[in-house]
Amino acid sequence: MDFDVHIRGAGIGGLLPAYVWTRMGLKVVVTDPVGIGAGASGAWRTLLNPASGVNPKPREGLAEVMEAFGQWMEAVDPGRTAAKPVTLYRPATDAGLAAGFRAAAARHWDGATLRLAPPPPGIAGQEGLWVEPVWAIDTPALLALLARAVVAGGGEVRIGAGTEPPPATRRFGAIGEAVLASRPGLGQHAVKGQLRRIRTGRVLPGPDALAGRGYAVRTAPDEWIIGSTYEHQFHHTGPDSTQDSYLLHRFQSLFIDPPEVEILDRWAGVRVGTKSRKPYLGPDPLEPASTLLSGLGSKGWLHAAEVALRPSMNSPKGM
Ligand SMILES: Cc1cc2nc3c(=O)[nH]c(=O)nc-3n(C[C@H](O)[C@H](O)[C@H](O)COP(=O)(O)OP(=O)(O)OC[C@H]3O[C@@H](n4cnc5c(N)ncnc54)[C@H](O)[C@@H]3O)c2cc1C
Repeated sequence: MDFDVHIRGAGIGGLLPAYVWTRMGLKVVVTDPVGIGAGASGAWRTLLNPASGVNPKPREGLAEVMEAFGQWMEAVDPGRTAAKPVTLYRPATDAGLAAGFRAAAARHWDGATLRLAPPPPGIAGQEGLWVEPVWAIDTPALLALLARAVVAGGGEVRIGAGTEPPPATRRFGAIGEAVLASRPGLGQHAVKGQLRRIRTGRVLPGPDALAGRGYAVRTAPDEWIIGSTYEHQFHHTGPDSTQDSYLLHRFQSLFIDPPEVEILDRWAGVRVGTKSRKPYLGPDPLEPASTLLSGLGSKGWLHAAEVALRPSMNSPKGM
């Protein structure tokens, strides 16, 4: 069978476009030698947060992307097993954050509802930001749903070291950290990130999503996922306990009465980024007839969604 598009890589960068293009009527095949979410995408559970960073800035087209994202969620995950909308509170835990949040609230914000307010009971810090919509995403679960929807739409997801690339009119690749060794000319770099799944001794006050520097998402009454580190230098890509105290301290300092914490799991992944922090979308240096998407950095969900929606990327002649 001939496909319209062969997509290399079953992470966010591959499966999100695969899902969108399947919905648009294209016949898609996704290949990955290792597995669905085998790279950075599967290493974390996260927040899709339009107001991230110390100085959250308005982004062009964000309203459309967030709306489209919400529609996909409705279609792909009506039972809310993999992604749920949450309200996020970002307490300003230091003067730098307070200044950034005040500036953000003073700007026009195109898409997210964002307002400055004092912390809710039990949460430390000065005035901070309430933000919505924000999605709390169990990434591996959502990727599995996207893969299932691609197959249900007539496409294929092939896992394992294959031989020949499947016959297809166009080729698209999102192969994550594999670009670092194989396409050094792209000048991309790796930033390691680690998360922890933790249990607190009691049910903590406040909303289910908090972010000062770093973020925390409640996944059960007394369980949270907290992250992340930004390690520009590291000796291996797996999790290591040297970052425990940094991550736990940052989480505990969000609360007026800091909780006792037990670590249940450690996760790590590598974000591939560019100096400009803009992803690369263009010819693959190793295979110029193929399009490569790389360097999604820490905004994988937003950038992959934007790419998939671009008219030039989903028209029959596109890419
Ligand atoms: C700790 C941490 C926290 C993060 N938090 C957020 C967040 O809150 N929000 C957000 O949007 N993003 C976040 N990110 C960033 C996000 O993880 C990445 O932007 C995204 O996962 C990159 O997706 P990708 O599909 O390009 O790469 P990957 O997920 O790395 O997938 C690449 C896939 O390609 C496969 N592959 C490799 N070589 C080949 C080949 N030759 N042929 C076929 N397949 C191949 C691999 O097996 C892998 O499955 C975070 C990242 C980390 C590490």
